[in-house]
Amino acid sequence: MRHEQPSEGALAALFCLRCHARNAARLAYRCPDCGGILRVERPLPAGRRWRTSDFVSERVTLGEGGTLMRKVRPDLLHERFHGQLYVKDETRNPSGSFKDRLVAAAVSRALALGAPGIVCASSGNAGAAAACYAANAGVPAIIVCPESTPEGKVAQIAAYGATFHRVPGDYSRSFQVGIELAAESGFANVTTTYQNAYGVDALRLVGQEILDDLSGNVPDWVAVPTSSGPLVHGVWQGFSDWSVQVPRLVAAQSEGCAPIATAFREGLQDVSPWPAPHTLASGISDPLASYPDEGSLTLSLVHATGGQGVAVPDAMILSAMHDLARRAGLFSEPTGATSLAAMRQLFDDGLIGEDDTIVCLVTGNGAKDYAAWRTADGQV
Ligand SMILES: [Zn+2]
Repeated sequence: MRHEQPSEGALAALFCLRCHARNAARLAYRCPDCGGILRVERPLPAGRRWRTSDFVSERVTLGEGGTLMRKVRPDLLHERFHGQLYVKDETRNPSGSFKDRLVAAAVSRALALGAPGIVCASSGNAGAAAACYAANAGVPAIIVCPESTPEGKVAQIAAYGATFHRVPGDYSRSFQVGIELAAESGFANVTTTYQNAYGVDALRLVGQEILDDLSGNVPDWVAVPTSSGPLVHGVWQGFSDWSVQVPRLVAAQSEGCAPIATAFREGLQDVSPWPAPHTLASGISDPLASYPDEGSLTLSLVHATGGQGVAVPDAMILSAMHDLARRAGLFSEPTGATSLAAMRQLFDDGLIGEDDTIVCLVTGNGAKDYAAWRTADGQV
């Protein structure tokens, strides 16, 4: 009798986190039964770690992920800190941000399921990533961004040749327009909130890479610039796959848009939408207007790991951004430096041990937002 291997598509079922229904792999963005957030279920690979090729097809990949993690001087955190401080440099991804990881996986799945093109609503980085990957794969892309999107990101989207819509209002408005355009066009929606579970699924590689780079030792803290929080989810999942222990996860936000950090500070389990976002950290300026449950999912992982939700003022973010460049040779946009700014805040608050091991994810390249650098040069 011949034993047929189940196809990879059959294995990558969608599991509803609310009603626990299971659906075979398909283009779905919320549970068709209850509207809950979907998560990809897949068994651990036998006898080996995850590989990019488990998530991203050969046609689509541009060599995303596997980013450098390196130790930097501990006084970059604080002069009294004597532990280990690492940065994981996600600016090295093909279009300059960690969003390449999600988009590569989401586009791979979309094409495998027969989608003729992709739509992505974005604050800029995911749009640049989607335009980049669509160009290489030879499929059309429609990108939707708020009017406030930094020009560097807009220039990238145009360079890759995507159809581009700039929409008045904050990111949540773009998010809704993205849903409408995906429905009209029949294209797959690869928006990188929790909406595309296949994109989020690939972020488990981030946690795995950190664990492997530390030779299996679990750091005390991993700090993550956070909008809705799929990257927090990815770090949590990557550690959960291979380790009984998960580091304390820090959801780092700007005071100008801090729905998750505010709920954390107030001891709440449910995140509420943020009324009027205003921050230089454009990549995490997401008010979660129609999907606060995504913030609540991220918050639950922060709570589960004994982590923290932290909001820092833009001045601290710019200062951290400046110091990463001047003292660690790492050119970041404001969003990317929010992780270091948040850990500085936690150290000041006495919540970090002087000998702890800390990993800060730096998520986006400084060339994406020269205007923020001009502001920083005037302030720092
Ligand atoms: Zn459901």
